[in-house]
Amino acid sequence: MKTFRCQCGHKLFFGSSHCVSCKETVGMCPTCREVTALKSLGDDAWQCSNQACGQKLKLCQNRIDYEACNCTVASEVEDQAFCTYCRLNQVIPDLSIEGNLVKWRRLEAAKRRVLYGVETIGLPIGDPSRNDFLPLKFEFKEDDTQPVSTGHACGLITINLKEADSVKREQTRVEFGEPQRTLIGHFRHELGHYYWDMLVEPSKLEAFRQLFGNEENPTYPEAQSAYYANGPKPNWQSQFISAYASMHPWEDFAESFAAYLDMTSIVCTAQAFPRINADVPPDDFDAWLKAYREIGVMANEFNRDIGLLDLVPEVFNKPVIEKLRFMHDLKDIRVQSPESSSSA
Ligand SMILES: [Zn+2]
Ligand SMILES: [Zn+2]
Ligand SMILES: [Zn+2]
Ligand SMILES: [Zn+2]
Repeated sequence: MKTFRCQCGHKLFFGSSHCVSCKETVGMCPTCREVTALKSLGDDAWQCSNQACGQKLKLCQNRIDYEACNCTVASEVEDQAFCTYCRLNQVIPDLSIEGNLVKWRRLEAAKRRVLYGVETIGLPIGDPSRNDFLPLKFEFKEDDTQPVSTGHACGLITINLKEADSVKREQTRVEFGEPQRTLIGHFRHELGHYYWDMLVEPSKLEAFRQLFGNEENPTYPEAQSAYYANGPKPNWQSQFISAYASMHPWEDFAESFAAYLDMTSIVCTAQAFPRINADVPPDDFDAWLKAYREIGVMANEFNRDIGLLDLVPEVFNKPVIEKLRFMHDLKDIRVQSPESSSSA
């Protein structure tokens, strides 16, 4: 993801709600699609500070109530309490249960990032309030008397809340031998099923079948039983992006779609960053630190693009910088040879 700029000149990130430098309230404006400082107009009314935009805004209700969103609503254009991403929610977790608010915020952050990326490359998102495309809906549910399966059906994407628990998710990843398992990845995969229903089945079915196989033979339940009984297709690496993709043409499409969104987000991020000069003189500590910070911001954005943890710390405080400088200077210390008396 690209980074954004506050009116004070400081860097803002896709998930920013406040500027860490000037402390202004910031948010995503739906009109110019920038994270910008929001100018207060009083009475919960705000204005986008991007001079080319100036849209009158109100904060998304999920931001006001739960800090679960950093988006806004174009108040003169839409009579909506929720932003375009939050209004797709059908079911949110029971927030009276301890820990659920934190997990839900993680789900919303991943959902926003993935949907913004989908819009950036020009794919339509069906808004249930408009009825233009297949309406896209989300439900975030917990295992109850019935276990909740993460999946997609007719525009409704269900995510099991436990996927937002990083320890449990990592356990599942190891259990299934997956190279990665992330919330971002889940949303991209399930969106693959959504776009198959909306775009592929009605108009590209023959081309799909030539590439991915016939989704009616074997049927999905047959393919699923075979996969869980016998494991992935032998030699799947020569044909599929993942072992799971070899289960059925629908899963192959969803896995390939997720990989395509990984690719577009990484390339868009690279386009948004200037070429970084890492050719620093060996002795110039400040040049090393500057290069590390610049590379770090971009590397973090690459990791965030695919839902991984940050590669480097976002902030280096002054005491830490001086400690790093101390390390840098260690090589200049002349090592004293042991005194002749001690070696005797
Ligand atoms: Zn600022
Ligand atoms: Zn704007
Ligand atoms: Zn929202
Ligand atoms: Zn799937």
